[in-house]
Amino acid sequence: MRKIVFATNNAHKLEELRRICGEGFEILSLRDIGCTDDIPEDAPTFEGNALAKASWVKSRYGYDCLADDSGLEVDALDGAPGVHSARFAGEGHDDGANNRLLLEKLSGVAPEKRTARFRTAICLLEGDSAPRYFSGKVEGHILEAPRGNGGFGYDPLFVPIGFDKTFAEIPGEEKDAVSHRGRAVRALLDYLLH
Ligand code: IMP
Repeated sequence: MRKIVFATNNAHKLEELRRICGEGFEILSLRDIGCTDDIPEDAPTFEGNALAKASWVKSRYGYDCLADDSGLEVDALDGAPGVHSARFAGEGHDDGANNRLLLEKLSGVAPEKRTARFRTAICLLEGDSAPRYFSGKVEGHILEAPRGNGGFGYDPLFVPIGFDKTFAEIPGEEKDAVSHRGRAVRALLDYLLH
């Protein structure tokens, strides 16, 4: 079975990637390869950060590698938190604090103006090939209070278009079918398998 390293410490992203990829690949995490580095991600774009993570691992550990950088863009906040999604409320990757800050910044914004999207950029570094990128997005809107216990990050606040439930209220497979990460990973699989 083909092995590939996924440059993440985010257990939720790892679980989603393994679920979307299915049985055909062995996805190794950073922990699986003994990497405990705090990989810098300070590029201004999702693609730039995905490349930074993948090339850190490829150059230091020698594995073919893929990395996902993703985030939430809220129109009423001019695209924030965007690449700063993980640390919106400060260092520490605290989902609860990030969600509370988002609601605070959107307080008084009417439902029809709370449009937003999740984006994912995946960077694949294979052998000596140039980096390849795969992207996905999902449009939706931000609620006025969190709903649901599933998923991670901003999932309890995000209702994708065509749904009346948040990403935190639906089964993982249903999220994968429409999510930014689901779309980006299926584009990656299409490349790897053909
Ligand atoms: P990254 O590790 O810099 O890509 O951080 C991505 C951040 O964006 C996460 O910590 C979450 O806050 C948010 N995010 C990305 N994807 C999702 C998702 O599928 N659901 C909810 N939040 C997400």
